[in-house]
Amino acid sequence: MRVFANYDTCVASGNCGRIAPAVFRNLAEHEGFVSLVTDHPPAAEWPAVRQAQQLCPSGTIFLDETTRAEGEPR
Ligand code: SF4
Repeated sequence: MRVFANYDTCVASGNCGRIAPAVFRNLAEHEGFVSLVTDHPPAAEWPAVRQAQQLCPSGTIFLDETTRAEGEPR
C-alpha cells in the first residue's frame, strides 16, 4: 500500500491523525494540516489507514493498494 495526501484540500480536521497516528499526523506547527509519517505503512496499519481515508471529510487521502514495498505481503 502507498499513501498519498493532497495537501491543497486538507481542512485540518485531525481525523486521520487520531485514527492512524502511526501514518498521519496533524502537527500544531502546521496548524493541524496533515503530514505523513510514512507513505508505505506496514500491513498492520492498513485497516486504520483505510478507515482514515473513509472518514476524511475532504477526500484528501488516496491509497494505491497495488503498490507493494519490499517485504509487504502479496
Ligand atoms: S482527515 Fe483529511 S481533512 Fe482531516 S486532517 Fe486528515 S487529511 Fe486533512
